[in-house]
Amino acid sequence: MQNLDDIQQAAGLKTAIRHQLFIGGRFVDAASGETLASINPHDNSTIAEVALAGKEDVDRAVAAAGKAFPAWSRMAAADRGRILLKLADLIEDNAEELARLESLDTGHPIRDSRRLDVPRTAACFRYFGGMADKFQGETIPVEAGFLNYTLREPVGIVGQVVPWNFPLMFTSWKMAPALAAGNCIVMKPAEITPLSSLRIAELMQEAGLPDGVVNMVPGLGQVAGQAIAEHPLISKIAFTGSTATGKRIVQASSGNLKKVQLELGGKGPNIVFEDANLQAAVNGSAWAIFHNQGQACIAGSRLMLHERIADEFLDKFLPLARSIRLGNPLDDDTEMGPLTSAQHRERVLSYVEVAQEEGGELLAGGKAPSGELARGCYVEPTVVRARSFQDRVAQEEVFGPFVTVLTFRNDEEALAMANGTDYGLGSGLWTSNLQRAHRVARDLHAGMVWINSYKRVNPGSPFGGVGQSGYGREMGFDAMREYTQVKSVWVNVDAQIPPHFVR
Ligand code: NAD
Repeated sequence: MQNLDDIQQAAGLKTAIRHQLFIGGRFVDAASGETLASINPHDNSTIAEVALAGKEDVDRAVAAAGKAFPAWSRMAAADRGRILLKLADLIEDNAEELARLESLDTGHPIRDSRRLDVPRTAACFRYFGGMADKFQGETIPVEAGFLNYTLREPVGIVGQVVPWNFPLMFTSWKMAPALAAGNCIVMKPAEITPLSSLRIAELMQEAGLPDGVVNMVPGLGQVAGQAIAEHPLISKIAFTGSTATGKRIVQASSGNLKKVQLELGGKGPNIVFEDANLQAAVNGSAWAIFHNQGQACIAGSRLMLHERIADEFLDKFLPLARSIRLGNPLDDDTEMGPLTSAQHRERVLSYVEVAQEEGGELLAGGKAPSGELARGCYVEPTVVRARSFQDRVAQEEVFGPFVTVLTFRNDEEALAMANGTDYGLGSGLWTSNLQRAHRVARDLHAGMVWINSYKRVNPGSPFGGVGQSGYGREMGFDAMREYTQVKSVWVNVDAQIPPHFVR
């Protein structure tokens, strides 16, 4: 491995790459001394050896969180909010640094890290910083003589398990509402992309977050993740990742009946009707699938075209897909970077074979690029046409730059296909007919619908799914509900003594 300072310098980073666990306000080694290499997916070189948390480290993190909880949860909500607002400012002050780190570790094109990941991360902390003292209980009009009100209390120590596709942004989506509500956190970043989350931990200290309120334990899912899911002192677990792992977490969490929030996979239908603005739909559909190399749970991975415009649409869409510029994520011109790991690239490419075995037609891409990029985890933008919406390539989440084309004849058929998977997360539709737009939005089995756009997110707008895409919502007031529990308080203000057991 190269020297960390050299890597830092080559990537244009001003601060050192953090590579230890963050427990009780200190960066520390794992109890076992074990580490795991963090890889740059552009060329498969090692960027850092990051401490690998085990069960003992999770126990230490939970103890630190438990110690911090009484003071943090009782702090004035506005003061908690002020720390999150300060953190949002610090993220903006260090925007270029964070963008570079994210691109280095995950393969996100730097233009996306700068334009989307970092600003969205700051916006999320800012939104929930402002929310901290605005989320409140209610008074309930109960029977005469009694006052009844509710308190919104933090749930306690919260475990958060983050995936590798948007590590920086998802760190904020999970942490910001939890902290605003007064919880303490044990977070496990994905083992392959821990660097930006660890840098956020450092900025949190600078923002004045008390020690132990946030603890970071990068480690393997089956070890550190499992320890979090099983831990008897953790009251809630919030998870983003695959549906298979989500199910394991539900089982592991049953020991102490944790509150569970799951944001899982998807197979987003992106429906283009015959009356759509075709050029806008072509551009938006390319964004829906190829942004972040298709590694997004909300990706528009099923491109559903009305049969009357399918050929014309593909005549524009396929050249666009083929023209997307693949390259080093740190280059300003790069539009698509590598997938986040070599293992994942093999999984994505295996679906090209699946498509062919199923009698599907490969319309574009379908392989790793040759030349210099062959060293990294790259896959060409890939378009396949499936025979049926029940084929595996139209049902299973590929999680790569891989879009499955289907055609339909009318609205009913489009809806039957769109709703014909176990998932229900993101979905989109393109039409100029107002009635159709709202009718189809109503009838889609999905947590989110975008009309004449795709993949919009905002900290105020609830994000989450139905069916096997999980349950619970991130963002907005819904996220604050997820991270609090309701206590109902009854006060006898002038009620008569009830007539039972009166002596
Ligand atoms: P994964 O679900 O296994 O990993 C996501 C996170 O869960 C990581 O932090 C991982 O360490 C952790 N984890 C794994 N096993 C765990 C366990 N038993 N207990 C607690 N935590 C555990 O996903 P993956 O294997 O990295 O990717 C496989 C597929 O998952 C992808 O191809 C994609 O389909 C899907 N995925 C979806 C999302 C999403 O945003 N919904 C994100 C990542 C991956």
